[in-house]
Amino acid sequence: AKGSGRGIYHFYTESLTTSANERLALETRLRHALEQDEFVLHYQPLVALTDGRIFGVEALVRWQIPGVGLLSPSRFIPLAEETGLIVPLGEWVLRTACARMKTWLDAGLPLEMLAVNLSPRQFQQGDLHERIRAILAETGLMSRHLELEITETALMEDGPENETKLAVLKDLGVRIAIDDFGTGYSSLAYLKRFPIDKLKIDQSFVRDIPLDSSNMEIVAAIIAMAKTLKLEVLAEGVETDAQLAFLKHQGCDVAQGYLFSRPVAADAMQTILATAMAN
Ligand code: C2E
Ligand code: CA
Ligand code: CA
Ligand code: CA
Repeated sequence: AKGSGRGIYHFYTESLTTSANERLALETRLRHALEQDEFVLHYQPLVALTDGRIFGVEALVRWQIPGVGLLSPSRFIPLAEETGLIVPLGEWVLRTACARMKTWLDAGLPLEMLAVNLSPRQFQQGDLHERIRAILAETGLMSRHLELEITETALMEDGPENETKLAVLKDLGVRIAIDDFGTGYSSLAYLKRFPIDKLKIDQSFVRDIPLDSSNMEIVAAIIAMAKTLKLEVLAEGVETDAQLAFLKHQGCDVAQGYLFSRPVAADAMQTILATAMAN
Protein backbone atom coordinates (compact mmCIF):
# COMPACT_ATOMS: atom_id res chain seq x y z
CA ALA A 1 0.00 0.00 0.00
CA LYS A 2 3.01 2.25 0.47
CA GLY A 3 3.69 2.48 -3.23
CA SER A 4 0.25 3.79 -4.05
CA GLY A 5 0.27 6.13 -1.10
CA ARG A 6 1.58 9.17 -2.89
CA GLY A 7 -1.01 9.08 -5.61
CA ILE A 8 -3.79 8.64 -3.13
CA TYR A 9 -2.48 11.46 -1.01
CA HIS A 10 -2.45 13.65 -4.07
CA PHE A 11 -5.96 12.51 -4.90
CA TYR A 12 -7.03 13.35 -1.41
CA THR A 13 -5.52 16.81 -1.24
CA GLU A 14 -5.77 18.03 -4.80
CA SER A 15 -8.55 17.58 -7.27
CA LEU A 16 -9.28 14.81 -9.68
CA THR A 17 -5.86 14.14 -11.04
CA THR A 18 -3.69 15.31 -13.89
CA SER A 19 -1.40 12.80 -15.53
CA ALA A 20 -2.41 9.57 -17.20
CA ASN A 21 -0.09 7.61 -14.91
CA GLU A 22 -1.68 9.02 -11.86
CA ARG A 23 -5.14 8.21 -13.17
CA LEU A 24 -4.06 4.65 -13.79
CA ALA A 25 -2.65 4.39 -10.26
CA LEU A 26 -5.92 5.68 -8.88
CA GLU A 27 -7.97 3.34 -10.97
CA THR A 28 -5.90 0.43 -9.68
CA ARG A 29 -6.28 1.74 -6.16
CA LEU A 30 -10.04 2.07 -6.58
CA ARG A 31 -10.24 -1.50 -7.84
CA HIS A 32 -8.32 -2.71 -4.78
CA ALA A 33 -10.53 -0.67 -2.53
CA LEU A 34 -13.51 -2.61 -3.82
CA GLU A 35 -11.79 -5.95 -3.29
CA GLN A 36 -10.55 -4.93 0.15
CA ASP A 37 -13.89 -3.65 1.33
CA GLU A 38 -12.80 -0.08 1.95
CA PHE A 39 -16.15 1.49 1.14
CA VAL A 40 -18.71 2.35 3.78
CA LEU A 41 -22.25 3.64 3.62
CA HIS A 42 -23.58 6.53 5.59
CA TYR A 43 -27.28 7.22 5.91
CA GLN A 44 -29.19 10.49 6.05
CA PRO A 45 -32.80 10.81 7.27
CA LEU A 46 -35.67 11.74 4.96
CA VAL A 47 -38.18 13.67 7.04
CA ALA A 48 -41.93 13.95 6.35
CA LEU A 49 -42.94 17.59 6.73
CA THR A 50 -46.50 16.78 7.78
CA ASP A 51 -45.46 15.17 11.08
CA GLY A 52 -41.68 15.55 11.29
CA ARG A 53 -41.21 11.80 11.21
CA ILE A 54 -38.11 10.09 9.76
CA PHE A 55 -39.74 7.70 7.32
CA GLY A 56 -36.76 7.02 5.11
CA VAL A 57 -32.99 7.20 4.67
CA GLU A 58 -30.68 7.86 1.74
CA ALA A 59 -27.56 5.71 1.48
CA LEU A 60 -24.42 7.70 0.62
CA VAL A 61 -21.11 6.00 -0.09
CA ARG A 62 -17.72 6.98 1.39
CA TRP A 63 -14.25 5.60 0.82
CA GLN A 64 -12.44 4.75 4.04
CA ILE A 65 -8.79 4.89 3.01
CA PRO A 66 -6.57 3.24 5.65
CA GLY A 67 -4.25 5.82 7.14
CA VAL A 68 -5.84 8.66 5.22
CA GLY A 69 -9.46 8.97 6.26
CA LEU A 70 -12.93 9.20 4.86
CA LEU A 71 -13.10 10.37 1.25
CA SER A 72 -16.30 11.99 0.04
CA PRO A 73 -17.99 10.58 -3.06
CA SER A 74 -17.39 13.71 -5.12
CA ARG A 75 -13.69 12.75 -5.02
CA PHE A 76 -14.03 9.26 -6.48
CA ILE A 77 -17.47 8.77 -8.05
CA PRO A 78 -16.53 10.67 -11.25
CA LEU A 79 -13.46 8.45 -11.76
CA ALA A 80 -15.47 5.33 -10.93
CA GLU A 81 -18.05 6.45 -13.46
CA GLU A 82 -15.45 7.08 -16.15
CA THR A 83 -13.68 3.75 -15.66
CA GLY A 84 -16.83 1.68 -15.30
CA LEU A 85 -15.93 0.70 -11.74
CA ILE A 86 -19.14 2.41 -10.71
CA VAL A 87 -20.99 -0.70 -11.86
CA PRO A 88 -19.51 -3.11 -9.29
CA LEU A 89 -19.33 -0.30 -6.71
CA GLY A 90 -22.96 0.61 -7.31
CA GLU A 91 -23.94 -3.01 -6.93
CA TRP A 92 -22.06 -3.21 -3.65
CA VAL A 93 -23.91 -0.09 -2.48
CA LEU A 94 -27.28 -1.54 -3.43
CA ARG A 95 -26.61 -4.91 -1.82
CA THR A 96 -25.18 -3.41 1.39
CA ALA A 97 -27.92 -0.80 1.77
CA CYS A 98 -30.73 -3.29 1.07
CA ALA A 99 -29.28 -5.77 3.59
CA ARG A 100 -29.05 -3.01 6.22
CA MET A 101 -32.58 -1.82 5.53
CA LYS A 102 -33.84 -5.38 5.94
CA THR A 103 -32.22 -5.69 9.39
CA TRP A 104 -33.76 -2.36 10.43
CA LEU A 105 -37.20 -3.44 9.28
CA ASP A 106 -36.79 -6.81 10.98
CA ALA A 107 -35.85 -4.96 14.19
CA GLY A 108 -39.18 -3.15 14.01
CA LEU A 109 -37.78 0.29 13.24
CA PRO A 110 -40.48 2.48 11.70
CA LEU A 111 -38.82 3.02 8.32
CA GLU A 112 -40.57 2.84 4.99
CA MET A 113 -38.08 3.89 2.38
CA LEU A 114 -34.46 3.29 1.47
CA ALA A 115 -33.16 5.63 -1.22
CA VAL A 116 -30.12 4.56 -3.26
CA ASN A 117 -28.31 6.59 -5.94
CA LEU A 118 -27.97 5.08 -9.41
CA SER A 119 -25.19 6.45 -11.57
CA PRO A 120 -25.88 7.18 -15.24
CA ARG A 121 -23.67 4.26 -16.22
CA GLN A 122 -25.57 1.87 -13.97
CA PHE A 123 -28.83 3.13 -15.36
CA GLN A 124 -27.64 2.37 -18.90
CA GLN A 125 -26.91 -1.27 -18.04
CA GLY A 126 -29.18 -3.52 -20.01
CA ASP A 127 -29.62 -6.03 -17.19
CA LEU A 128 -29.96 -3.53 -14.35
CA HIS A 129 -33.46 -4.70 -13.45
CA GLU A 130 -32.25 -8.30 -13.22
CA ARG A 131 -29.39 -7.29 -10.95
CA ILE A 132 -31.75 -5.36 -8.71
CA ARG A 133 -34.23 -8.20 -8.66
CA ALA A 134 -31.42 -10.56 -7.61
CA ILE A 135 -30.27 -8.21 -4.84
CA LEU A 136 -33.81 -7.87 -3.50
CA ALA A 137 -34.21 -11.66 -3.51
CA GLU A 138 -30.83 -12.17 -1.88
CA THR A 139 -31.39 -9.62 0.90
CA GLY A 140 -35.10 -10.32 1.37
CA LEU A 141 -36.01 -6.63 1.13
CA MET A 142 -39.42 -5.98 -0.39
CA SER A 143 -39.23 -3.85 -3.51
CA ARG A 144 -41.69 -1.26 -2.22
CA HIS A 145 -39.09 -0.19 0.35
CA LEU A 146 -36.53 0.70 -2.31
CA GLU A 147 -36.37 4.04 -4.10
CA LEU A 148 -33.86 4.52 -6.91
CA GLU A 149 -32.51 8.05 -7.39
CA ILE A 150 -31.52 8.98 -10.92
CA THR A 151 -30.30 12.46 -11.78
CA GLU A 152 -32.38 14.68 -13.99
CA THR A 153 -29.48 14.99 -16.43
CA ALA A 154 -29.12 11.21 -16.81
CA LEU A 155 -32.84 10.76 -17.22
CA MET A 156 -33.54 13.44 -19.77
CA GLU A 157 -30.76 12.29 -22.12
CA ASP A 158 -32.12 9.76 -24.58
CA GLY A 159 -35.60 10.51 -23.25
CA PRO A 160 -37.64 8.09 -25.37
CA GLU A 161 -35.40 5.13 -24.56
CA ASN A 162 -35.45 5.91 -20.87
CA GLU A 163 -39.21 5.63 -20.72
CA THR A 164 -38.90 1.89 -21.37
CA LYS A 165 -35.97 1.51 -18.97
CA LEU A 166 -37.95 3.16 -16.20
CA ALA A 167 -41.01 1.06 -16.92
CA VAL A 168 -38.95 -2.12 -16.58
CA LEU A 169 -37.56 -0.94 -13.23
CA LYS A 170 -41.02 0.10 -12.04
CA ASP A 171 -42.25 -3.40 -12.82
CA LEU A 172 -40.04 -4.63 -9.99
CA GLY A 173 -42.19 -2.60 -7.61
CA VAL A 174 -39.48 -0.08 -6.70
CA ARG A 175 -39.96 3.68 -6.64
CA ILE A 176 -38.17 6.18 -8.86
CA ALA A 177 -36.97 9.63 -7.78
CA ILE A 178 -35.41 12.30 -9.99
CA ASP A 179 -32.32 13.59 -8.19
CA ASP A 180 -30.82 17.09 -8.45
CA PHE A 181 -34.04 18.32 -10.01
CA GLY A 182 -33.82 21.79 -11.52
CA THR A 183 -30.19 21.52 -12.61
CA GLY A 184 -30.91 19.73 -15.89
CA TYR A 185 -33.35 20.35 -18.67
CA SER A 186 -36.51 18.43 -18.10
CA SER A 187 -39.05 18.11 -20.80
CA LEU A 188 -42.51 18.49 -19.35
CA ALA A 189 -43.72 15.86 -21.79
CA TYR A 190 -41.27 13.32 -20.33
CA LEU A 191 -42.01 14.31 -16.78
CA LYS A 192 -45.64 13.58 -17.44
CA ARG A 193 -45.04 10.31 -19.29
CA PHE A 194 -42.23 8.80 -17.22
CA PRO A 195 -43.28 6.48 -14.38
CA ILE A 196 -41.72 8.70 -11.71
CA ASP A 197 -42.70 8.96 -8.06
CA LYS A 198 -40.70 11.84 -6.66
CA LEU A 199 -38.75 15.01 -7.49
CA LYS A 200 -35.77 15.91 -5.32
CA ILE A 201 -35.18 19.66 -5.56
CA ASP A 202 -31.45 20.31 -5.87
CA GLN A 203 -29.86 21.90 -2.83
CA SER A 204 -28.52 24.83 -4.85
CA PHE A 205 -32.07 26.23 -4.94
CA VAL A 206 -32.64 25.72 -1.23
CA ARG A 207 -29.32 27.08 0.00
CA ASP A 208 -30.08 30.81 -0.17
CA ILE A 209 -33.65 30.77 1.06
CA PRO A 210 -34.84 33.28 2.29
CA LEU A 211 -32.24 35.64 0.83
CA ASP A 212 -32.58 34.79 -2.84
CA SER A 213 -36.10 35.54 -4.02
CA SER A 214 -35.64 34.05 -7.47
CA ASN A 215 -34.55 30.72 -5.98
CA MET A 216 -37.57 30.87 -3.70
CA GLU A 217 -39.79 31.34 -6.73
CA ILE A 218 -38.13 28.40 -8.46
CA VAL A 219 -38.63 26.15 -5.44
CA ALA A 220 -42.28 27.24 -5.14
CA ALA A 221 -42.78 26.57 -8.86
CA ILE A 222 -41.21 23.09 -8.67
CA ILE A 223 -43.40 22.19 -5.69
CA ALA A 224 -46.51 23.43 -7.50
CA MET A 225 -45.55 21.52 -10.63
CA ALA A 226 -44.95 18.34 -8.62
CA LYS A 227 -48.44 18.69 -7.13
CA THR A 228 -49.95 19.12 -10.59
CA LEU A 229 -48.13 16.03 -11.84
CA LYS A 230 -49.10 14.17 -8.63
CA LEU A 231 -45.48 13.55 -7.73
CA GLU A 232 -44.02 13.58 -4.26
CA VAL A 233 -41.52 16.41 -3.75
CA LEU A 234 -38.46 16.54 -1.50
CA ALA A 235 -36.13 19.46 -0.77
CA GLU A 236 -32.44 18.69 -0.30
CA GLY A 237 -29.89 20.63 1.70
CA VAL A 238 -32.27 22.02 4.34
CA GLU A 239 -30.07 23.64 6.96
CA THR A 240 -32.17 26.32 8.66
CA ASP A 241 -35.54 26.78 10.32
CA ALA A 242 -36.33 29.57 7.86
CA GLN A 243 -35.84 27.20 4.93
CA LEU A 244 -37.97 24.58 6.63
CA ALA A 245 -40.77 27.09 7.33
CA PHE A 246 -40.78 28.24 3.70
CA LEU A 247 -40.87 24.67 2.37
CA LYS A 248 -43.70 23.69 4.70
CA HIS A 249 -45.64 26.78 3.69
CA GLN A 250 -45.25 25.84 0.02
CA GLY A 251 -46.54 22.34 0.71
CA CYS A 252 -43.29 20.42 0.21
CA ASP A 253 -43.72 16.80 1.32
CA VAL A 254 -40.28 15.74 2.46
CA ALA A 255 -37.01 17.37 3.51
CA GLN A 256 -33.43 16.23 3.92
CA GLY A 257 -30.51 18.18 5.30
CA TYR A 258 -28.15 19.06 8.11
CA LEU A 259 -31.02 20.70 10.02
CA PHE A 260 -32.22 17.17 10.81
CA SER A 261 -28.99 15.21 10.58
CA ARG A 262 -25.82 14.87 8.58
CA PRO A 263 -25.30 11.51 6.90
CA VAL A 264 -24.10 9.15 9.66
CA ALA A 265 -22.74 5.61 9.91
CA ALA A 266 -25.24 2.75 10.10
CA ASP A 267 -24.88 2.28 13.87
CA ALA A 268 -25.50 5.95 14.55
CA MET A 269 -28.49 5.90 12.20
CA GLN A 270 -29.91 2.94 14.06
CA THR A 271 -29.60 4.85 17.35
CA ILE A 272 -31.36 7.87 15.84
CA LEU A 273 -34.20 5.66 14.60
CA ALA A 274 -34.54 3.74 17.86
CA THR A 275 -34.60 7.00 19.84
CA ALA A 276 -37.21 8.52 17.52
CA MET A 277 -39.35 5.41 17.96
CA ALA A 278 -39.10 5.54 21.77
CA ASN A 279 -40.22 9.19 21.89
P1 C2E B 1 -26.70 13.63 -3.81
O1 C2E B 1 -27.27 12.32 -4.21
O2 C2E B 1 -27.37 14.86 -4.29
O3 C2E B 1 -26.63 13.57 -2.22
C1 C2E B 1 -26.84 14.67 -1.38
C2 C2E B 1 -25.52 15.27 -0.92
O4 C2E B 1 -25.80 16.45 -0.16
C3 C2E B 1 -24.74 14.37 0.02
O5 C2E B 1 -23.36 14.62 -0.20
C4 C2E B 1 -25.13 14.89 1.40
O6 C2E B 1 -24.18 14.61 2.39
C5 C2E B 1 -25.21 16.36 1.11
N1 C2E B 1 -26.08 17.06 2.03
C6 C2E B 1 -27.16 16.58 2.69
N2 C2E B 1 -27.74 17.52 3.45
C7 C2E B 1 -27.01 18.65 3.26
C8 C2E B 1 -27.13 19.98 3.80
O7 C2E B 1 -28.01 20.32 4.58
N3 C2E B 1 -26.21 20.88 3.36
C9 C2E B 1 -25.22 20.55 2.48
N4 C2E B 1 -24.35 21.49 2.13
N5 C2E B 1 -25.08 19.30 1.98
C10 C2E B 1 -25.98 18.36 2.36
P2 C2E B 1 -22.33 13.41 -0.34
O8 C2E B 1 -22.67 12.31 0.60
O9 C2E B 1 -20.97 14.01 -0.27
O10 C2E B 1 -22.61 12.87 -1.80
C11 C2E B 1 -22.36 13.68 -2.92
C12 C2E B 1 -22.87 13.05 -4.17
O11 C2E B 1 -22.15 11.85 -4.47
C13 C2E B 1 -24.32 12.62 -4.09
O12 C2E B 1 -25.16 13.74 -4.26
C14 C2E B 1 -24.39 11.63 -5.23
O13 C2E B 1 -24.50 12.31 -6.46
C15 C2E B 1 -23.02 10.99 -5.16
N6 C2E B 1 -23.15 9.71 -4.44
C16 C2E B 1 -23.13 9.44 -3.13
N7 C2E B 1 -23.29 8.13 -2.87
C17 C2E B 1 -23.45 7.53 -4.09
C18 C2E B 1 -23.66 6.18 -4.51
O14 C2E B 1 -23.78 5.23 -3.72
N8 C2E B 1 -23.77 5.96 -5.86
C19 C2E B 1 -23.67 6.99 -6.76
N9 C2E B 1 -23.78 6.71 -8.07
N10 C2E B 1 -23.48 8.27 -6.40
C20 C2E B 1 -23.37 8.54 -5.07
CA1 CA C 1 -29.23 11.43 -4.14
CA1 CA D 1 -29.32 15.40 -5.00
CA1 CA E 1 -26.15 16.57 -5.93
